[in-house]
Amino acid sequence: MIELNGIGASDGIAIAKAYSLKEPEFIIENKTVSDKQQELKKLDDALNQAKSELEQIRDTARVRLGEEKAAIFSAHLLVLQDPEFIEPVKADIENNSICAEYALKEKADMFIAMFEAMDNEYMKERAADIKDVSKRVISHLLSVPLPNLSLISEEVIVVAEDLTPSDTAQLNGQYVKGFTTNIGGRTSHSAIMARSMEIPAVVGTKQATSEIQNGMILIVDGFTGKLIIDPTEKQLIEYKQKHEQYVLQREEWSKLVNEATVTEDGHHVELAANIGKPEDVEKVLENGAEGIGLYRTEFLYMERDKLPTEEEQFDAYKTVLEKMEGKPVVVRTLDIGGDKELPYLKLPHELNPFLGFRAIRLCLEQQDIFRTQLRALLRASTFGNLKIMFPMIATVDEFNEAKSILMEEKQKLIQENIEVAEDIEIGMMVEIPSAAVLADQFAKVVDFFSIGTNDLIQYTMAADRMNERVSYLYQPYNPAILRLVSMVIDAAHQQGRWVGMCGEMAGDKVAIPLLLGLGLDEFSMSASSILPARTQLKHLSKAHAASHKAELLAMDTAEKVIDFAKETYAVN
Ligand code: PEP
Ligand code: MG
Repeated sequence: MIELNGIGASDGIAIAKAYSLKEPEFIIENKTVSDKQQELKKLDDALNQAKSELEQIRDTARVRLGEEKAAIFSAHLLVLQDPEFIEPVKADIENNSICAEYALKEKADMFIAMFEAMDNEYMKERAADIKDVSKRVISHLLSVPLPNLSLISEEVIVVAEDLTPSDTAQLNGQYVKGFTTNIGGRTSHSAIMARSMEIPAVVGTKQATSEIQNGMILIVDGFTGKLIIDPTEKQLIEYKQKHEQYVLQREEWSKLVNEATVTEDGHHVELAANIGKPEDVEKVLENGAEGIGLYRTEFLYMERDKLPTEEEQFDAYKTVLEKMEGKPVVVRTLDIGGDKELPYLKLPHELNPFLGFRAIRLCLEQQDIFRTQLRALLRASTFGNLKIMFPMIATVDEFNEAKSILMEEKQKLIQENIEVAEDIEIGMMVEIPSAAVLADQFAKVVDFFSIGTNDLIQYTMAADRMNERVSYLYQPYNPAILRLVSMVIDAAHQQGRWVGMCGEMAGDKVAIPLLLGLGLDEFSMSASSILPARTQLKHLSKAHAASHKAELLAMDTAEKVIDFAKETYAVN
């Protein structure tokens, strides 16, 4: 038994076998074989196994990710059957008695080098296809299986160095009971996705991949961040009980699913949910959210090899708005960059991607991308209660420019006789310190603010949210952060605007009473946090929380704030 301590990223207990996403290293030697016929058969068998595996992956991808994504695997199948690639491999075995894996690797490397050298994007993609396909065939020749998230068909806990947001999107919650990664923090996007899918997760364990072999039994404790490898019988019993208690607790919470969120002294706050994909709306409704406070649209642009069309986006936005049946839906325009990459945009590599050409900065420069999204949103606006917000706004000019582009697109649609809702509120994320400091000026031009604490904390504390070595600086309770939040709320209220929070802090039980006291109007969080937050808010008094505002903002350390919250509001 080994215990590792990481960061609890998504509540719940998972107990299952490990499924390691580490790619194996192939050792391929230039060997000759004595039985050429047997070697040719070995190659044929490996090609057939790769073929049926690819067909299965393509079919799963079709169902889960759509025809377009599945087309990549059809291209892989064509490579596998291409005589120009396969025949020279067979000839090498037949004429030179070379072992199949070496012959295949040599031919694959030759084609890859040839295609990569061409000044043509299409051909470069063919090089990537050959790389993928040859790796798959070699894995069968050497009997060393390749990990593949979409092929998982038994209950497992996924173990990886890191999971990209698109890896996480491929996880099938039916089989993937939990996951654990070496790197990442509570606000890395894989952690956020885990919470929206309600999969228990421990991230930032530093060494999970080196300690864990495929098939080992693991316990993931998403509450405390503990990862137990090869647990004792006693631990298994203890954690099964913990899991059962959590199931019962959730049943208790679910009694509040149809209730409004009203504090003990009769004050209503809005509890909304964050989503990444239209399918997430199911969990939003199951958990009784009063709206969607953040729809991260970038996931529509990921897991694919080209930009989504206006029509595809329109369908997604319309679906979400219709399913929410008139409840508010705040859609954030494309926030790509940082840890969310779009390889097909072929943006130059940056030294500081979190501080670079991302989100609204990219949209204001590559306006065709932005305008397509805005048109899709505006067209969908008549199907529900849409609000639009822009991410990563640093200056008033950026907001004004983004808004005027939105207005231009609205006018164009009206001229085309396409109906657009009249009263779409237009707001912005406050996630860059300059926006928080200047909130009084921004409040004159926006309809609402949504505070993105994941980035606001990262930029205020100058601590990369992906880097677990500086994760101690992710301090939502630091008085510096509380003062910024308070400034934004006061500035907005003075202009009659409402303020939400869609960063992870909004669903944090220690932060909730503090934010209530600072006057936050809307709390937007992972769907799984809604019911516990509603339970907590029902027992809090807004007036009492507000009476502590000055005292709170005068504190000097995060620890003192935490101690104060725990003593005053009985949270742990
Ligand atoms: C935030 O920064 O707090 C936020 C909600 O946006 P994201 O996590 O997508 O960067
Ligand atoms: Mg952000």
